[in-house]
Amino acid sequence: LSQRDFDLPDEESMVQLAGRLASVCQHSCVIYLQGDLGAGKTTFSRGFIKGMGHKGKVKSPTYTLVEPYEIGPWRIFHFDLYRLADAEELEFMGIRDYFEEDCICLIEWPDKGHGLLAAADLTISIDYTPLGRRLSMLALSARGQSLLEVLT
Ligand code: ADP
Ligand code: MG
Repeated sequence: LSQRDFDLPDEESMVQLAGRLASVCQHSCVIYLQGDLGAGKTTFSRGFIKGMGHKGKVKSPTYTLVEPYEIGPWRIFHFDLYRLADAEELEFMGIRDYFEEDCICLIEWPDKGHGLLAAADLTISIDYTPLGRRLSMLALSARGQSLLEVLT
């Protein structure tokens, strides 16, 4: 189990860090994103999805709950569960199909899906600081651990 912390003065530095994480992501993985509204969870996800090679827009899944992307061999699912009224909605969405071996999942507000989501390999927590944001990555599996180790 290990943790790495990053001080991010601006949006650009967060997008860049997310791109670096994407560039070392060689396995299916589940990433939980924690932090208050406006902390930067969607900003990080956008940097990650673009870092994986997506050329188009990255929309916030605030209203759709999930936005899917197909990038090379990967299916990336970007969730925002803030508006999830009932965890059962996730069952109707066929949530189990989102955690296959070719899938990378980024999940904002994972607490709302408690009990129905796959366990996280990596939890990213973002806090406000006087200088911008402090981002902590916590590895929760061997896969998450190896991501943290190779991340430069
Ligand atoms: P969330 O998804 O957590 O609600 P967003 O990513 O939608 O948050 O919004 C984050 C906002 O904070 C953006 O408007 C972004 O420009 C701004 N911002 C300011 N400083 C930073 C920083 N250091 N890292 C990320 N976003 C920042
Ligand atoms: Mg968001």
